[in-house]
Amino acid sequence: MSAENSVSEILYAKVFTNQHLLENILSYLSDDFRKNLNVRLLNKRINNTFLRLIRRNHRKMKIEYAYDIEHFETRLKDYIYINYRKINNQDVLPYFIFLNTVVGVKVEKITTRRLWMLEKKFKRRLHDLIHSQLIGTNGTHIQSLINLEEICDGCVKCSNIAQKCLEYGPLRFSTLQTMIYSKNYKKLHVTDKLFENIAEYCISKSKNKDECFKELDKTILSTISCDKLAIWVNESRIFPEDGEGLEYDHRHMPREVIDIILRKWNVKSIKLSMLHITNEQMCSVEWLQYDYFTRVRLNDPYLGTKQSDLKFNHVEVSLSYSQGCVRGLGNLPPETNPPAAYDNFIPNIRRMFPTDRISMELSHWYFVPKIDIEKKMSTILQVVSMEQQHNLSLDIKFFVKSGIVKKLNEETKREELLGVASGYVHQEKRLHCFKKSSPFNAKHGPEVFIDNKWIGRRFQVRDTVHQFNFNLDVYIKEKELEKGFDKQLLQEYPNSFVKHFFA
Ligand SMILES: [Zn+2]
Ligand SMILES: [Zn+2]
Ligand SMILES: [Zn+2]
Repeated sequence: MSAENSVSEILYAKVFTNQHLLENILSYLSDDFRKNLNVRLLNKRINNTFLRLIRRNHRKMKIEYAYDIEHFETRLKDYIYINYRKINNQDVLPYFIFLNTVVGVKVEKITTRRLWMLEKKFKRRLHDLIHSQLIGTNGTHIQSLINLEEICDGCVKCSNIAQKCLEYGPLRFSTLQTMIYSKNYKKLHVTDKLFENIAEYCISKSKNKDECFKELDKTILSTISCDKLAIWVNESRIFPEDGEGLEYDHRHMPREVIDIILRKWNVKSIKLSMLHITNEQMCSVEWLQYDYFTRVRLNDPYLGTKQSDLKFNHVEVSLSYSQGCVRGLGNLPPETNPPAAYDNFIPNIRRMFPTDRISMELSHWYFVPKIDIEKKMSTILQVVSMEQQHNLSLDIKFFVKSGIVKKLNEETKREELLGVASGYVHQEKRLHCFKKSSPFNAKHGPEVFIDNKWIGRRFQVRDTVHQFNFNLDVYIKEKELEKGFDKQLLQEYPNSFVKHFFA
């Protein structure tokens, strides 16, 4: 044996007996473990560590379908993403069986997204595999199951698991009807469609308004409580017989249904998710034939919205998958044409879900604005302070392209750096966050979603008289900032917006 060989053997031995080092090395391989299964064969210790890492990586699972919105028509449907990695549909079964039998996963949280867009046969199979291989009939380890009913529209398997979870939903009406037990959920998810279904069910069971509200009282039980209620609102719904002038919009919701849920479930805080597409696109029209329920819409003129006497700790708003609502914040170019009037959004939230604290997150993937930061900031300020807000603390996470900070002067043909819109004061606070996204190549999705680092700066508007405090946290991708800006240009514009990112 050569000296060199024995040195490397000593090194091998050191690595393999040092659990910490071994885990570090294997964590790279276990990340994409399906390509690295052969390392398991090296020895038993490696095998055990390797499997333990896979088990750890699969305590939380995100199973989703993603596609390029610009290639909606031609998108392929032969893959899904599992924990942000692309898996061909035919590999899903062996993947899950491996996780279940060899790895022995204990999955605690499963979030699915847009699986309804897959082929019918495959998605049914996927639904059943998630139950049989990942959750198990007893659901011993599962704590959160989010959005699986999107595939089955509510089934016995799902409603059984709903009873075991701390976080569950969105509930279909059939699942709601099984919730006759007593339980405190950390978080329940509902959709605008569920509100309609509840209203129509109560109407169908009654002869007049009085009976209808008695039925409503029997349908929503106070044995259920939830700390946080997540409401999913579809921004592009249609009426069944709206042949001509077909308009995609956010539609009316029955206010009394929402209110009784908030009250009886003892909801403490709210999350609103505005979604530009879901599989519950068709409105129910039956309930609109009766004047039993008050109609509310988050983009209706706010003066018509009745003030609720409830109070919530916090309203969190996700606009990550919104089109209409982000447009309302002046965040889409004028040529796109989603529904309007979302400038009523915040005043309506404060009437329906009274709170002193609202935080919003805008999209980091689609519709990331790239033109005129100064104007964007002032439009946002104009919209959020349309109604003179009292006692409100508002935080917005705003993701932008780096090009948004400059503009070309048409006359001089020179680039100029834009400033901070008036009203805002920069806060000396360094922020960052990580967001997963990856570019699509037409109908092909990326192999894996990359975790991008975003660097943020806080710009604040304070109105001490009205106790209105607004933080606009603007984020730019670190990679785009690294490409840098002309030093001379930065010096030429000492008050530029982007200078704060290099201070
Ligand atoms: Zn189901
Ligand atoms: Zn209306
Ligand atoms: Zn500064």
